Amino acid sequence: MVHQALTLARPEGNPAGGRGLALFYVEVRGDDGALHEGIALNRLKDKLGTRKVPTAELELVGARATAVAGTNEGVRAIAPMLNVTRTWNAVVAAAGMRRGLALARDFARRRAAFGGPLASKPLHVETLADVQAEQEAAFHLAFRAVELLGREEAGASSSPRAAALLRLTTPLAKLATARQAVAAASEILESFGGAGYVEDTGLPRLLRDAQVLPIWEGTTNVLSLDVLKTAARDGAADAFAEDVAEVAAAATDADLAAAGRVALRAVDDARAWLARTAAAAPAALEAGARRFALTLARALALALLARQGQWSRDREHDGRAAVAALRFARHGVAPGAGFGPADADAPADADADRMLAEAAALGNDTPLVH
Ligand SMILES: Cc1cc2nc3c(=O)[nH]c(=O)nc-3n(C[C@H](O)[C@H](O)[C@H](O)COP(=O)(O)OP(=O)(O)OC[C@H]3O[C@@H](n4cnc5c(N)ncnc54)[C@H](O)[C@@H]3O)c2cc1C
Repeated sequence: MVHQALTLARPEGNPAGGRGLALFYVEVRGDDGALHEGIALNRLKDKLGTRKVPTAELELVGARATAVAGTNEGVRAIAPMLNVTRTWNAVVAAAGMRRGLALARDFARRRAAFGGPLASKPLHVETLADVQAEQEAAFHLAFRAVELLGREEAGASSSPRAAALLRLTTPLAKLATARQAVAAASEILESFGGAGYVEDTGLPRLLRDAQVLPIWEGTTNVLSLDVLKTAARDGAADAFAEDVAEVAAAATDADLAAAGRVALRAVDDARAWLARTAAAAPAALEAGARRFALTLARALALALLARQGQWSRDREHDGRAAVAALRFARHGVAPGAGFGPADADAPADADADRMLAEAAALGNDTPLVH
């Protein structure tokens, strides 16, 4: 088995910064399993989770490496791989949530407390239903990213609009599903009571393994800034809004159509916030990036859920998927305070400066002189 790796490195003489990096292919081990010459293993890291996938601190000095796409612009060259790994992250997030729910449901059928199985207790079932709605949202988001990536790889959609959509949807799916997975894992452990906290049940591993999902392949904040940048150019935000509108249009029953409108309004409000803040208070843009990204992601998830709910009602005569959509809508698509109506006044730069100073005082726990 060949152990392959892609890595970025700066060829001698190249300028500082991302553009001076180049993408290299490295074979780490030979057929005998030994590390190739020039590759030193300093240590394996002692990690919170994902322990079955060791993470090593390697030093490459004089290792053989092959330039993959020229000797600069490596960050651009590695981007297609990041689309794959981020999409994979979203799929794993949705899958982990589903696995946890399957375990929790099984436990709820067997564990009797307060006179009956947990599965018969309305509040316990309500709690699992909330996680299930989030899981279905994560599933649809992840596989929307899969669909867009698959189309691009198969050459089935090569328009600038399709490229912009993929560029925006991939980080959105990654960042939103990763956070859903951590929240779900925590709730699932709690649904087992004390057993969820005890190592020999194997359950704590669900939470430990989930916690890496928002960290590797780009943290929530780093991806949110990427989303902000992408949304501001190349008509990406327009393409995204059109996509959400097309998806939501398939939900025609009154309740699901209303859920679709909630999704559209959230996207409109977020885009209006982006336009007016970029114009009037650019300093405040970064601070709102996470809310912006999570709003777009949850709005797309809601539109996808509403469409699925409609399909399932019409074709399968099953109302369960619609219930998931409506429940997810109740959880809210705009985290925090949202962005207010699309025609809200733009904050003046002075207001934005004050808001940033207030956040800095809280975030850094420093006095706020006034
Ligand atoms: C188990 C594991 C395996 C990994 N495997 C690989 C691998 O195979 N290959 C690889 O290349 N990397 C790998 N990584 C690295 C991983 O991708 C990084 O740890 C991750 O992207 C975060 O980068 P960082 O650690 O430098 O954190 P930092 O960039 O220092 O971030 C620290 C905090 O600051 C926030 N932050 C950073 N910049 C900003 C900003 N401008 N605005 C607002 N907030 C910001 C982040 O969101 C984060 O919360 C792995 C990490 C882990 C944990």
